Amino acid sequence: MSKNLKNKTLGELESIAENLGQKKYLAKYIFTFIHTKNAEGISNISTLSKDFRAELTERGYHISNLNTVQRLTDPDGTVKYIFEADDGNRIETVLLTEGKRRTLCVSTQVGCAMKCTFCATAKIKFRRNLTAGEIVDQVNVIQKDKGKISNVVYMGMGEPLLNYDAVLKSVRILNHPDGKNIGIRHLALSTCGQAKALRKLAEDDIRPRLAISLNAPTDELRSKIMPINKKYLIAALMTAVKYYQLKTKMRVTFEYVMIKGLNDSEICAQSFVKLVRHIKCNVNLIEYNPHRHCTFAGSDRRTIDRFALILDDAGIETTVRLKKGQDIKAACGQLGDDLPKPS
Ligand code: SF4
Repeated sequence: MSKNLKNKTLGELESIAENLGQKKYLAKYIFTFIHTKNAEGISNISTLSKDFRAELTERGYHISNLNTVQRLTDPDGTVKYIFEADDGNRIETVLLTEGKRRTLCVSTQVGCAMKCTFCATAKIKFRRNLTAGEIVDQVNVIQKDKGKISNVVYMGMGEPLLNYDAVLKSVRILNHPDGKNIGIRHLALSTCGQAKALRKLAEDDIRPRLAISLNAPTDELRSKIMPINKKYLIAALMTAVKYYQLKTKMRVTFEYVMIKGLNDSEICAQSFVKLVRHIKCNVNLIEYNPHRHCTFAGSDRRTIDRFALILDDAGIETTVRLKKGQDIKAACGQLGDDLPKPS
């Protein structure tokens, strides 16, 4: 069992305190010191007695910290952090600022096993899941560096629903009023289409906002660029999305990366409309960001606007997401391009 206190919910910390013969309320000091005061070691939790701190340390409890290897700033203001975990694995996290809104795009795995053809992270392949502590720490470090984070999106490296327990635990920690207190509507998770896990999430007692990375309106096309589609066909995915919506009453977001000549035709837009028009949703059209591992090119602006118009005309709220952080390879689909590949 992990002895990293950053990995623990408040309830788990209360159990630890009680098991050590201490008062339950002391757990709150540990939780708030880690998640609001960025305590990097047990010795920093000054509200605990010296004896309790010593006992925690003697029993192997500790607080892990991601090490910032590099911080890159794009001319458009996007900032990318490269972090190293205790075992030497590296991940990337991106901060996007729009007025007062600071959105952090966090990673959930080292690499990714999903092999989406347009994505640089897929080239690192899957190494391991991140712990809840490592997910939360991306927020801790960047908030300390840049100020209050208003939104967290689980859209960085990895497929969040394949690291279900740690991701949901990190949502609980970030959402907790005694910690960062980030509202559940300000926490969003994006999946490539893990239909089974989506149904599990629908039954959970804490549910962040949901985004589905769709990227193609037909099985034939989607299976070419997203191998997950061979496991869960679009029909199965849509059934799971509708079930999620039935349970949560929440609007979902469909993400669609616009790739020149591949998925950006008017026919694709019309098929897309047929697919989602009965779902309470909005659509984000994302400009494709090229990287050295892929020969795809991004759709031109006219094609994207025409695609958006077809969706808009069908009454589907559509936003075009412009490239951000491209110079520092922090844009959507580029994460991990700077990290070491498997030998
Ligand atoms: S797009 Fe997401 S799910 Fe697909 S390979 Fe990249 S990180 Fe993994």
